[in-house]
Amino acid sequence: MFSTITPFKFINFIIIFGGLFIVPEKGTAQAIHVNPWTAKKMAVIPPAASLTDGVWLKGELHVHSRHSKESSNNPISKIIAFSKSVRMDYLCITDHDNHVDGDVAHNTWTDPEFKSDSVLLLYGAEWTTTRGHGNVFSAKPYDHQQLFDVRDQRDTTIGRVKNKLGIHLSANHPSGKDNFGYSYDLVQSIEVWNSVLWAKNANAIMIWDDMLSSGRKLTGRGGSDAHHGVPDSPDKTTTNSSQAKVNYVGTPTTWVFAKARTLQAVIDALTNGRVAISSNPFAPRIEFYADINADGKMDLMMGDNAKATGKPVKFRVKLAAKQFPDGEYTITVIKNGSKFNSYTVTGKTPVAEFTDTPAETGRTYYRVTVEGPQTPYPQLSGWAAISGNMVGLSNPIYFNFDPNF
Ligand SMILES: [Zn+2]
Ligand SMILES: [Zn+2]
Repeated sequence: MFSTITPFKFINFIIIFGGLFIVPEKGTAQAIHVNPWTAKKMAVIPPAASLTDGVWLKGELHVHSRHSKESSNNPISKIIAFSKSVRMDYLCITDHDNHVDGDVAHNTWTDPEFKSDSVLLLYGAEWTTTRGHGNVFSAKPYDHQQLFDVRDQRDTTIGRVKNKLGIHLSANHPSGKDNFGYSYDLVQSIEVWNSVLWAKNANAIMIWDDMLSSGRKLTGRGGSDAHHGVPDSPDKTTTNSSQAKVNYVGTPTTWVFAKARTLQAVIDALTNGRVAISSNPFAPRIEFYADINADGKMDLMMGDNAKATGKPVKFRVKLAAKQFPDGEYTITVIKNGSKFNSYTVTGKTPVAEFTDTPAETGRTYYRVTVEGPQTPYPQLSGWAAISGNMVGLSNPIYFNFDPNF
């Protein structure tokens, strides 16, 4: 390929061949590289969906039942009963597909316990492969066997199968053991918060920022990856049973702003990035908005994308909770992968506002993280001891991201 600037002495005419050669004054021609992939004109970005016509739903997107061989004391009925007790709206049980040779349909989904009168049960599984793990989320049963069978093929082949199945695929615990070794172009979301152990997610956040910075609107979501339930009697205790009181459904909790209380609306919200993650089901939920035309009315929320006009944008971060613990929260704004600023709020005035002008050309994104006092999670007696101070994070608000990317 052409380098950015290539001197061509003794050539004093114009050639167009991938790059444009112009004749400079002193008889030395320079090639001005033209990147053929640069967007010629910003595509029209569709207006954002309603900020009010919808419902906040909270759920768990990564949990293993007895159909995963290394789980213990964790039948589906126990997971659903617990989810109901902490008022989860939706749940995806994601058993390892390789433990049933890909036949999730005749294991997790046909389990007589796979039913609930109050919790929306997504269809899914953990795609467990040599090159890493990913979760599938679907509003209806799909042929998971096809995704299992194609796991070792080239990514282009996998992409075709995935698209045909019409599923939402999500990269799990993308760094470290079982890192996601596939192209991120195969996935709509990434698990940026896996389990109660926040510190181990640092590399996942780095990968996320890299993907966002490269123009990919990739939703960040959470998942406890819990495998173990509380034993029903002392003799059922295993070496892993202690985990059940530390890391279980809701650690962390993924909130979606869905158009309706339906399975499909949960998937759509996940795909569109109207998503925030909280450390537990009772911890504050982050709402992140932007007013792009200075009319005092918010126009965008996290996950939304708009054209930058070159004018200042007013952003609002709001923490929503039934009850706040005492103490100060630190809200950190990340702009294009780097810290932009931080703000201190309390539960009494849980709102921070700031103004910035996203560049008129090129992409910009803003996302926020919230650290501070943890809201108790009484159902998990050991949670508070290791939960640290990460309270929540939002998905980005985007400017000039190509909707046709
Ligand atoms: Zn995994
Ligand atoms: Zn897992």
